[in-house]
Amino acid sequence: MIRFHLASAEVFVPDGLAAEQALARTTHLAVAAHQDDLEIMAFDGILACFGRADRWFCGVVLTDGSGSPRDGLYRYHSDAAMRAVRRGEQKKAAVVGEYAAQVLLDYPSAAVKDRANRAPAEDLTLLLKQTRPEVVYTHNLADKHDTHVAVALRVVEAARGLPKAERPGRVYGCEVWRDLDWLTDADKVAFDVSAHENLQSTLLGVFDSQISGGKRYDLATMGRRRANATYYASHDTDVATRMIFALDLTPLVRDTGLDVNEYVQQFIQRFAGEVQRKIRDLGF
Ligand SMILES: [Zn+2]
Repeated sequence: MIRFHLASAEVFVPDGLAAEQALARTTHLAVAAHQDDLEIMAFDGILACFGRADRWFCGVVLTDGSGSPRDGLYRYHSDAAMRAVRRGEQKKAAVVGEYAAQVLLDYPSAAVKDRANRAPAEDLTLLLKQTRPEVVYTHNLADKHDTHVAVALRVVEAARGLPKAERPGRVYGCEVWRDLDWLTDADKVAFDVSAHENLQSTLLGVFDSQISGGKRYDLATMGRRRANATYYASHDTDVATRMIFALDLTPLVRDTGLDVNEYVQQFIQRFAGEVQRKIRDLGF
């Protein structure tokens, strides 16, 4: 039995395997704040594992989804009803995307953002031990949503808490609230997610409660992927038709001495330098 801090936490396994075995087969792990973030930011991992017997995607959602805005069909839903709807939607996505497992840790957002509350990071440490992933996807540290940034920080803390040999090989901070087109090309991790457009649309469309209020995350996310691919390289025809960008967080996990804030600032400084240089080169 895997014991998380909250009794309401759940491991959902689409193909019915026992939770421990389902988690142990993971190769690609994604850790997100909310129901629907995984499908927006970590499609590279879902795609890498889809239809494969040797690679498995495991999704983790930290918050309970109870505080989300609601409209239309969901207008009169209580927080508890909304939480149930969003759990159900995340499980639907896990079935469609053939995930190894979908973990729902069920924390209120405030608990995830509170650095003094060790429970979320401890649950993540436990999950990293159970899954031993090659690749981890999470939010990027320059995201504009507080809870997203907090989740990325919890992932860094959890990975740093493991012995060096047990830390994940690669950790990527991906796009949700704020894209990463601004990174200099040398700093961009670019995932080609051209394949299975139908699967991408379906996974994004499952989250009806988030979309029906008029926020077309499904269309916006597919549009961002298309824009990323087209504007990635200024010459040649498009090699990829859809791309997701990420900021590499691996050095933060390998080297516990790196200051998190300074690490992110370096990316911003390189962007600032590039803008400055171009204008200067043109004589101003
Ligand atoms: Zn989110």
